[in-house]
Amino acid sequence: MSTKYRHLTTVDEVLELFPGIYKQRTTDFPTYAPLCRRCNKRATSKDTKKDNPNGNAGRQYYECLPCNNYLGFADARGNDRANSDCKCEPPISRKRLLVGHWDESNKNSRAGQVFYVCRHGKSGFHKFHETTEKEFVVIDGEELIAELGR
Ligand SMILES: [Zn+2]
Ligand SMILES: [Zn+2]
Repeated sequence: MSTKYRHLTTVDEVLELFPGIYKQRTTDFPTYAPLCRRCNKRATSKDTKKDNPNGNAGRQYYECLPCNNYLGFADARGNDRANSDCKCEPPISRKRLLVGHWDESNKNSRAGQVFYVCRHGKSGFHKFHETTEKEFVVIDGEELIAELGR
C-alpha cells in the first residue's frame, strides 16, 4: 500500500481538520531553557533566522548545543488543547509542528507534513499526523504557512 497524503491548501481546509488551531491554544510553554533529556545539562535559548523559509522565522526555541538536541519552541503556536496528551508527568497536550515546505520533487523529505512533539521537550516523542483515512497531512503553500504562523 502506498503512502497517502492529504494536501491542505486553504485556511478553511486547515480549520476543518484542526478547528482549535487558533482558538484552543494554551499559552503554557517553557519560558526558560529546559534540561536536555540526553545529557541533563541546561539547554540554550536560540532564535530561528529571520529569513527561515519554513514559517518559523524569528521563533525562540531551546536546543542542547553539545547534543544537537532540539527541545522545543518557546511559544504557543501549535499548542492546541485538542492535541493528544504526552505521556510525561504531568500529561500535557502535545505541540503541532510542520516540517518545512512540501517539496514535490522529494516526497521522502516529509516537507510540509504535520507532526507532534512533547510541548515541553521532556520526551523525544515525534509522530506524524494521520487522518482517519490513514493519510499524512501536508500544509501546501507558502502563503498558507505564513498565515498559520500568526
Ligand atoms: Zn544534551
Ligand atoms: Zn511531554
